[in-house]
Amino acid sequence: MGRAFVYVIVGGGVAAGYAAHEFVKRGVSHGELCIVSEEPVAPYERPALSKGYLLPEVCDLTSCSCGVQLLHCLPSFHCCVGANEEKLTPKWYKEHGIELILGTQVKSADLKRKTLLTATGETISYKFLIVATGARALKLEEFGVNGLDADNVCYLRDLADANKLVDVMKSCGGGNAVVIGGGYIGMECAASLVINKLNVAMVFPEAHCMARLFTPKIASYYEEFYESKGVKFIKGTMLSSFDFNSDGKVTAVNLKDGNKLPADMVVVGIGIRPNTSLFEGQLTMDKGGIKVNGQMQSSNSSVYAVGDVAAFPVKIFGETRRLEHVDSARKSARHAVAAIVEPDKTGEFNYLPFFYSRVFTLVTLSGSFLEGGTKEQYEAIAQATRLKPAIQDSAELEKQGLGFALTLSQKPPSSQPLDSGGSRLLMEKPIYPLHATAGVIMAASIAVFAYWYGRKRKRW
Ligand SMILES: Cc1cc2nc3c(=O)[nH]c(=O)nc-3n(C[C@H](O)[C@H](O)[C@H](O)COP(=O)(O)OP(=O)(O)OC[C@H]3O[C@@H](n4cnc5c(N)ncnc54)[C@H](O)[C@@H]3O)c2cc1C
Repeated sequence: MGRAFVYVIVGGGVAAGYAAHEFVKRGVSHGELCIVSEEPVAPYERPALSKGYLLPEVCDLTSCSCGVQLLHCLPSFHCCVGANEEKLTPKWYKEHGIELILGTQVKSADLKRKTLLTATGETISYKFLIVATGARALKLEEFGVNGLDADNVCYLRDLADANKLVDVMKSCGGGNAVVIGGGYIGMECAASLVINKLNVAMVFPEAHCMARLFTPKIASYYEEFYESKGVKFIKGTMLSSFDFNSDGKVTAVNLKDGNKLPADMVVVGIGIRPNTSLFEGQLTMDKGGIKVNGQMQSSNSSVYAVGDVAAFPVKIFGETRRLEHVDSARKSARHAVAAIVEPDKTGEFNYLPFFYSRVFTLVTLSGSFLEGGTKEQYEAIAQATRLKPAIQDSAELEKQGLGFALTLSQKPPSSQPLDSGGSRLLMEKPIYPLHATAGVIMAASIAVFAYWYGRKRKRW
């Protein structure tokens, strides 16, 4: 059994959704495009899983207003709502003649024959393939710790993980949660766990949270804020094993420093690994992902890679990088489609790395970070930070980047709110001279972080 399409996207996450949207904008004909995804739902805005989706008022997962099981309708966060564009519901794909093959894993790819083989035994052939397989969460087993199967150990990569997390969280209200990992998944989950009234301890081996992104000063601001909400930080140590009860549930987390933490549930956020296995030995790899050029085209001219799985040239750094951010997934996907449909009119992808997060209910610009900026930029960001402006529109802040601070700093003093003296200016001199580039992180209410990477990336 087999079907043939002009364009096939393997993977149905953020990048797939935005690629489909771009194909439609560029006039794809009915029947030309197919998306094959392991997940049972149409592409959605993955970042929502660790934000609104985990909040108590949202996490009644039984049904939504349209009466359909929430799992299948994702009422508020289908692609492309995250970029203030239309919501791509299953109906949208149908109306545009896009074949959505959901709940179906691609088991192998034969790039010479231009075919994919699915877990259901179907062969799908393509003229152009877009690889949008994203990444998977690293599991504790990969570090020699058992616990993957325990009912109360949670990861967070997809909707099924999020649904499990919500269920477990609800079942142990008022209990103890241990978060393993101090990256953004750990931080965002910790905030949601607190809001859901659990006692939260965070454990990570680094000296401070968000070690790959934050300076010690910015991290300490965040940690103090979290501590004020009741989160306990246990730094500089790691998980060594779990204690289990007779039902196989984890009851305590044993740490390498000899301490034991009681646990009604555990959330693990220790990094991700790109899903490249279908293409190992067939495509050139780099930085753990599929190496592409400025058109997002891989070493096979019919195959493009986008999103978390793609390692592409980042012009501002003059080198190939693989990013794990939603903004890059959206934009690389759009660029690949443009390059496929209009190769002569599409230049090199010129991406400025950007990342945002959202924790608790911070709603004002409360800190900033500038690495390697000019004197004027340092002054502007300092001024903007002192003013603590409310962030009304995160998309606008994203658009403006450092310009937001420059504009704000030029406003006459009378129109600026008074600094009550408690402003937290978190500025650092360039501390990574080899890669220092101008950048700004606005640790804000909606905690929006805009930045130009200034250092080699390690795993989150
Ligand atoms: C909980 C969470 C919160 C996040 N928050 C933020 C944030 O605040 N800011 C930010 O910048 N980034 C955030 N991210 C990262 C962001 O979501 C990713 O960068 C983005 O989703 C990458 O898009 P993608 O399409 O490349 O991969 P994904 O969205 O992961 O999609 C990959 C898809 O491919 C499918 N797939 C994989 N292999 C196969 C196969 N063999 N056959 C069929 N289908 C397959 C997967 O099931 C999945 O549907 C977050 C990620 C998570 C998990």
